[in-house]
Amino acid sequence: MAGIDKIDKLDSLRLEDMDVEVLKQRLLSAIGDKNRVLFEEEVDDRYKSDVLGRRKGTVWALVRTVSAMEVSKVLRFAWENNISVTPRGAGTNLVGSTVPLKGGIVLDVSEMNHILELDKETFTATVEPGVTLQDFQEYVEGKGFFYPPDPGEKTATIGGNISTNAGGMRAVKYGVTRDYVMGLEVVLADGRVMTVGSKNIKDSSGLALKHLLIGSEGTLGVITKCILKIMPKPEASISVLVPFADLHTGMEAVWHIINENTNPTAIEFVERKIIKLGEEFLGLQFPYPQAAAYIILTFDGHPSEIEADVKRIGQLARKKGALDFLLLEDKETAADVWKIRGVLVKAVEAVSEQEPVDIVVPINKTAAFISFVHELEKKSGMQMVSFGHAGDGNVHLCVVRGERSQKEWERELKENMEQVYGKAYELGGLTSGEHGIGISKQHYFLKETNSINIQIMNAIKNALDSKHILNDGKVYIFQKAIQ
Ligand SMILES: Cc1cc2nc3c(=O)[nH]c(=O)nc-3n(C[C@H](O)[C@H](O)[C@H](O)COP(=O)(O)OP(=O)(O)OC[C@H]3O[C@@H](n4cnc5c(N)ncnc54)[C@H](O)[C@@H]3O)c2cc1C
Repeated sequence: MAGIDKIDKLDSLRLEDMDVEVLKQRLLSAIGDKNRVLFEEEVDDRYKSDVLGRRKGTVWALVRTVSAMEVSKVLRFAWENNISVTPRGAGTNLVGSTVPLKGGIVLDVSEMNHILELDKETFTATVEPGVTLQDFQEYVEGKGFFYPPDPGEKTATIGGNISTNAGGMRAVKYGVTRDYVMGLEVVLADGRVMTVGSKNIKDSSGLALKHLLIGSEGTLGVITKCILKIMPKPEASISVLVPFADLHTGMEAVWHIINENTNPTAIEFVERKIIKLGEEFLGLQFPYPQAAAYIILTFDGHPSEIEADVKRIGQLARKKGALDFLLLEDKETAADVWKIRGVLVKAVEAVSEQEPVDIVVPINKTAAFISFVHELEKKSGMQMVSFGHAGDGNVHLCVVRGERSQKEWERELKENMEQVYGKAYELGGLTSGEHGIGISKQHYFLKETNSINIQIMNAIKNALDSKHILNDGKVYIFQKAIQ
């Protein structure tokens, strides 16, 4: 990482050297509600980590804000006193991005959870950042509208989804969270409030600041209001299960399916060996157990269009080696298939600790990447279960710890992941398709990304947060520990 300055400004922070009691009183008076400010040992352990809970930080204070003004007061207080701040939504990230690495304040915005407006005339909705994806999807669908981004974890917040540019299964047709963010209100590290974007569809007006903030994992500002694009709800939707004798044949068929111009909403791939874990975990049965791999497709839109598209894809899939083409018309079977698909990470975790990987490669390289992983699995003896979004090249690997000691696990994981990330970049891929970098992917991200890109990212950080108050040491922010 030659050429990158070591930035670790909060190393100089020594809370014990200050009058902590005075600081506590100042923070409490900024919020005005004692129940929403907790200190040190009063703070529950879950605020020290992410959903996996593997790495823990320390917390001086947890503040649960209910307005942008409170967020601004907390950040101004932190800025003036050189205190690190970790923004937090629902804490469902898988990459350690909510671990308070430098102690300080955890700023929880999950109670800012009001839907403020549904503007039918501009097809937009305005929400606070703590609204959960589930509540938002249910709300807009209840009004006859549709919010296409559909990442798997529905308890995540909209603010968290925007901060990680969350993806999900519908990306192949509808795009990702970024494509549905029209505008944001953001509190900067020094407490200033900024709005970016608007309800306008087009924007050629200066630098796209909104896009810098989307996916910035809480390193540039705290999102306090979100204007989101919504769409008319599709009239119908149907899923199809396509079994294959091997994953490679299935993955090859995906290109032909996309090329057929039928515009599927989701194209997922999954191997039989991981489905088995899902079946055992939920006590449910997946259809066609004799297959080695499956492609699951969804189509939405007008019923007559769907019918014609499904017919064409059925014929094509059989020509390309599918063992069958199962229309999931029965609601219960369709629900079971999606339940099993949705629970795969938890099913692996029930058996062993695992490292979640969400590499993305160009869609014509997915099969080559998975073949590489299979070979490495054989060579290394480390189990790597793969599934994911075949339509957009986003491959999820669950790298399974098994019976390894902590030392063996850390060493073997790093050795194998160096190879996996190296291969992904060789194929034109990237470290993360949707989960973000946080701290757990940081080593690979910094290693594989051009040094000039990292320098520019750090220059942007310094422009917006020169004291490194927000989420310091994560994602692209170079620190001493990463060499
Ligand atoms: C079972 C499971 C399935 C998942 N499936 C998917 C999936 O399909 N696709 C996908 O993309 N992800 C998935 N995830 C990951 C996770 O749900 C997403 O990353 C989600 O976007 C995180 O939202 P959150 O509210 O939990 O954010 P948090 O975990 O609280 O925070 C995530 C990051 O955003 C920052 N942040 C949060 N809120 C704000 C804010 N208001 N302003 C500024 N920064 C903020 C935090 O500092 C942190 O860096 C899954 C997770 C689990 C556990």
